[in-house]
Amino acid sequence: MIIDSHCHAGEYLKHFPESFATGMMASIHKPPEAITTSIPQLLAEMDAAHIDQAFLLAFDAQRTLGAKVPNEYVAEICRRYPDRFIGFGSVDGMHPDAAETVHYFVHELHLRGLKIAPAYLRLSPADPCWYGAFSAAQEAGIPVLVHVGTTPAKDAAKQYFSPTLMAKAAQDFPRLNFIMAHMGTPWVTQCIDLMVKHPNLYADLSIFGWYQSINTVAKTLETARQRGVLQRILWGTDQPWGPLGVFKERMERLRNDTELFPQGQPLTDEEWTNIMGKTALRLLPAQL
Ligand SMILES: [Zn+2]
Repeated sequence: MIIDSHCHAGEYLKHFPESFATGMMASIHKPPEAITTSIPQLLAEMDAAHIDQAFLLAFDAQRTLGAKVPNEYVAEICRRYPDRFIGFGSVDGMHPDAAETVHYFVHELHLRGLKIAPAYLRLSPADPCWYGAFSAAQEAGIPVLVHVGTTPAKDAAKQYFSPTLMAKAAQDFPRLNFIMAHMGTPWVTQCIDLMVKHPNLYADLSIFGWYQSINTVAKTLETARQRGVLQRILWGTDQPWGPLGVFKERMERLRNDTELFPQGQPLTDEEWTNIMGKTALRLLPAQL
């Protein structure tokens, strides 16, 4: 089972205002309209690359950036393609009904994860305003995917980019699993250090695994293996920022090419299977 654990949904202008889309897509030299995820096209790309399922993400940065992909929009796509998409809802911790919204999207919309974007909302992931939503997620048994690391969004708050801010939430919610997006790029070493310390911290390879050289990616995975956290790393593309097919081919090289790894041991079948989907599946609650 191959799962892309970081896939964005949403449409230009309907969900993402022009200024936001322009800034985000300029980072990959594409026009603002390219921020739109066409579901038929995404499914065709998944089929061509033999990707079985994807975590499809809602996104709430309405208060600060005017960008919002509603939970209902993602739920509707998941309802249409239940075998292909696993929906993640999104909330703004500052919203007084954030905890109720998590409860609602889990039990009414059948979404199976929470995605949050603290830096986009000018918040630390350690801000107590998130704790109601985290409690609701912990109670529901769903994972929380947190944007950590840098972003091209102009108005995001740089002081909240660092993955080290995740330490407090990881400690305060020991039964809640957090996925740190993008391996915390560029703070990848700190990201691995945190995973060593907190067994409920995971990380995804989106952006990092594609934008870095393949040698850097191999070296990082080898470090993660040596430090005992490789089984908590998930593959994801950050579509529409990362190309599904070519990124997956690159992952194939990481299990075959001995020369990429300083110690000469590429990913074993077990390690590869975990990264490419098994770990992602393990994080999800049983069908809600
Ligand atoms: Zn993303």
